Amino acid sequence: MLSIAQNIAHVRKSIPQGVDLVCVSKFHSKETILQAYEAGERLFGESRAQELVQKYEALPKDIAWHFIGHLQRNKVRQIVPFVALIHSVDSVELLSEINRCAEKSGRRISVLLQVHIAQEEQKFGFAPDELRQFVAEFDESKFPFVSICGLMGMATFTDDEEQIKREFSTLATLFAEVKSAYFSENEVFATLSMGMSEDFPLAIAAGSTMVRVGSAIFGERS
Ligand SMILES: *Cc1c(COP(=O)(O)O)cnc(C)c1O
Repeated sequence: MLSIAQNIAHVRKSIPQGVDLVCVSKFHSKETILQAYEAGERLFGESRAQELVQKYEALPKDIAWHFIGHLQRNKVRQIVPFVALIHSVDSVELLSEINRCAEKSGRRISVLLQVHIAQEEQKFGFAPDELRQFVAEFDESKFPFVSICGLMGMATFTDDEEQIKREFSTLATLFAEVKSAYFSENEVFATLSMGMSEDFPLAIAAGSTMVRVGSAIFGERS
């Protein structure tokens, strides 16, 4: 079996300069995460608030913790004091709660809007037209404690590469459209989070600026 450091070196070969790697460490132990940390990684992604809090408390403080899973409103308060980026904002209600908790914490929280691009049933994420409507109606002055930094999406879980490429290019096109229509003056809107272990090279080819890689680094999750 290859070590985590070897897995990282292998994954990094396919990631050009300028594309960020988020090591998705959900369900893996603190010791396992430390191996990736010692190999030089500093961005880690988790999908459960409680697990994220415990790992944040136990691990080095120069880790930037990303929240990548579905976030319930009643969990926002737990992660806002330290989270570096929330990838999964999919409603105005969730954004309002993040804004409210951020104010209390004295922080400004960076977020991505999650877009539903896959064919398969997904419960979470804006449909492309919902996203267009959301950004068209978005009133920045009502959310002074959040920064919308870009979009996140997941392709269908399939062997059909053409379909995956189509979905990533749909998201990249939507990202460019929304950026030029609503965020052209805003340099912070610059992150396109797409690509996981099975498909990150396709995502990068389509314009991803941030990939979220779990099993290719840490092995299968139990
Ligand atoms: C689990 C997860 C990943 C990582 O998946 P792998 O296939 O293990 O790389 C990426 N993004 C999200 C949103 C996830 O929930």
